[in-house]
Amino acid sequence: MFDIILQETRALTVAEKRRLVEAIRALIADGLAGGGAAGEPACCPRCGSPGVTRKGHGADGRQRWRCKSCGRTFSARTGSVVATSKLPVSTWADYAEGTSRASRSGSSRGGATCAPGPPGS
Ligand SMILES: [Zn+2]
Repeated sequence: MFDIILQETRALTVAEKRRLVEAIRALIADGLAGGGAAGEPACCPRCGSPGVTRKGHGADGRQRWRCKSCGRTFSARTGSVVATSKLPVSTWADYAEGTSRASRSGSSRGGATCAPGPPGS
């Protein structure tokens, strides 16, 4: 699948490749946010109960859900890394991309001084 996509990508113009990169970045951002807007959650992120029902939309326009078991509401972001962040998801996508690139190359942008030391040091 990946090889086929890569092969097809070679035939694209530079402008089309840029559009493709933007589309993929959006998909990555969506993945970080805990899935797309259309996806129905399989279970409650708070208690794990499979009984969930639609509960209107949040201030950000995203679908909200209510758990039939614990009664709490949640969105697709709830329980994800970006749930409590005020930064846009695209910023987190950039961060994730930069972090994985840095770890692959074996270097980081001054990250060594930020690394936590052993407990009690
Ligand atoms: Zn629940």
